[in-house]
Amino acid sequence: MVIDLTGKIALVTGGARGIGRETSLRLAEAGARVVINYQKSLEAAEALKAELAGRGLETDLFQADVSKPEEVDALFARIRDRHGRLDILVNNAGIIKDTLLLNMDLSDWDRVHDVNLKGAFLCTRAAAELMMLHHAGKIINIASVGAIRGGRGQTNYASSKGGLLAFTRACAVELGSKGIQVNAVLPGMIQTDMSRLVRKRAGETLLERIPMGRFGEPTEVAHLVVFLASDRADYITGQAIAVDGGFSVA
Ligand code: NAP
Repeated sequence: MVIDLTGKIALVTGGARGIGRETSLRLAEAGARVVINYQKSLEAAEALKAELAGRGLETDLFQADVSKPEEVDALFARIRDRHGRLDILVNNAGIIKDTLLLNMDLSDWDRVHDVNLKGAFLCTRAAAELMMLHHAGKIINIASVGAIRGGRGQTNYASSKGGLLAFTRACAVELGSKGIQVNAVLPGMIQTDMSRLVRKRAGETLLERIPMGRFGEPTEVAHLVVFLASDRADYITGQAIAVDGGFSVA
């Protein structure tokens, strides 16, 4: 199956590192013009832009904290001015601040929700406005298996990702008649900076709980995102698909 995203404009939040980086890369390889949002990782963003430019693939970089309304406004103003449209939004930006419930500070609760859930809301609202102009669009929310399976020390993260899943379904209902499909991808334990500490501390125990007996690669998540972003997925909306080696069904 060949997926061709030529002529499409895509935005990947947190698109310079980890799953976001692979997603930016795969979308660009499929032909999309990718706007790579980053918050802190300027160097990684520039390296990715240079790597893709070397292969003749043009990208745009834009620094913004997705939890800040004024920065999201500036990001979308740039997209409107430069491209006049948006076809694909990947709400990938995310953080963890793991702590057992009784030790959890309100600030850790709030920050995780601000980035993982409020950030997705702000970007989705702005994207939907642009997508409605041409009655088409794909929104892919990177949630987590943590949205459907509890994990110790992750009450804030699980709540934010569970919220993102519910948000995905409600958006799918509201935006279906506008030609916009909204889906969620639920990664399991994927080999990125985010999961490094957990893998180091509990790697062997975790592997025993994954039927496929290995951790996932960022690109394995990105491949599903590219499919959901394409016209091959035109009749799929409101769904949550895990990329987790069977972890969530074991
Ligand atoms: P990662 O390597 O830690 O990357 C996180 C990304 O989010 C970075 O690109 C970072 O950008 C960006 N980000 C964080 N805060 C941001 C903000 N306020 N505004 C804009 N961007 C922000 O993590 P990852 O594993 O690739 O995670 C990507 C997504 O997958 C997250 O939503 C995560 O919850 C989800 N996920 C990951 C796993 C896993 O096992 N790795 C499992 C389930 C779900 P900067 O570096 O520029 O700040």
